Amino acid sequence: MTRDPLSAPQVIYYHDPEIAVAMHSSFSNAIHEADRCVSCGLCLQNCPTYRKTLSEADSPRGRINLMRGVMKEEIPLNARFIEHIDLCLDCRACEKACPNHVAYDAILRAMRKPIEKEKKGRRLLKRASLNLLSRPKMLERIGRLYLKSGMGRFLPGKLKPLDTLLPRGLPGFPEKTVYPAQGEALGEVGLFLGCVARLTDTLTLNAAIHVLNRLGYTVHVPQDQTCCGALHARFGENAEPLVTRNLEAFSGIDVVLGTSSACTVELSSFFQGRIFDISRFLCEAKGWERMEISPFEGKIAVHEPCSLRNVLKGQDYPYRLLERIPGASVVPLEGNGQCCGSAGSYFLTQPEMANSLLDDKMEMVCKSGARIIATSNVGCAMFMGARGAGVLHPVVILARQTGFVK
Ligand code: SF4
Ligand code: SF4
Repeated sequence: MTRDPLSAPQVIYYHDPEIAVAMHSSFSNAIHEADRCVSCGLCLQNCPTYRKTLSEADSPRGRINLMRGVMKEEIPLNARFIEHIDLCLDCRACEKACPNHVAYDAILRAMRKPIEKEKKGRRLLKRASLNLLSRPKMLERIGRLYLKSGMGRFLPGKLKPLDTLLPRGLPGFPEKTVYPAQGEALGEVGLFLGCVARLTDTLTLNAAIHVLNRLGYTVHVPQDQTCCGALHARFGENAEPLVTRNLEAFSGIDVVLGTSSACTVELSSFFQGRIFDISRFLCEAKGWERMEISPFEGKIAVHEPCSLRNVLKGQDYPYRLLERIPGASVVPLEGNGQCCGSAGSYFLTQPEMANSLLDDKMEMVCKSGARIIATSNVGCAMFMGARGAGVLHPVVILARQTGFVK
């Protein structure tokens, strides 16, 4: 049997008896998936954390071995194990590289709940944050109040990065439930707002409505939709109530569009072929002959979010969309295979690794000489934007060339 350097003597010790029960009953699929890993190591050089630490325990192969060991009760679920799993960005670059198509994320998801149960401390803060994400309207109200009050300077050190990520002076979020098509109607779509994005990425949401309406699509914005549940799943919490609410909110709408690829990934397994990244939809949409697109002189470098590239496999669509702009030179940002480090709440929980990855990304941003960096995920945009990069969603760049003035 492969032994990982972290494996301890054959002592099984779960602090919480509930974990032990969950471990025995729910791991069979994950163990089966982990067993499909043939330890070839072809994923290693694609893993950002392995490239940084050069430790097998911080590689996909190492983590799969560790998780399998814990699930089979061969090694303990202890602090050292958690440290290596927590350092994973869940960027899924390993899945993309794996010739055997091992579903790494499925194995990781099976470990989330036991890991979170084993952790001590900060449970209250985590629970309060997740509750707030489940109530996006309240989150938005609190966020706006916070921005007005200037309370940012009183935040404790660990939460300071959150304040720098919050953009100021954005338009309000779309409050109407229907935005009708202009001219002859070509179709109807739903728009997913997200939770944090309705506070931090209203520019993209408004730009999406602008472009869709002008092409001839009526946009439905169900106001009772909620968070996609990605962070809940990340922290081993039950995201099902959120999924159910979103499915109900969008019932009767055949095509739902997401402007943030990480949320689109999270919802895609539940919306079964009904949810699309907006760049993909726009590339395949009709009505472009109606659009007058003014030229853009300069270079746009495209940052490919891991969720769009490794999971949705839709990294080509933003290029195709931006190439509709006359004069624009659309190029990939060098180093697109590596995560920027934002990864949901990763930048807060693993600031050292996240900032090291962001350093690499910012080096490429400077090297690109681009006027604008385009990205389809709000988390990446906020993280890179906090370091001063001019980052916009491809839809915003396009909308601005078609008369969108915000
Ligand atoms: S998800 Fe990303 S960080 Fe995690 S093991 Fe795979 S490649 Fe490495
Ligand atoms: S590439 Fe796939 S099979 Fe090979 S070590 Fe990585 S996860 Fe395992």
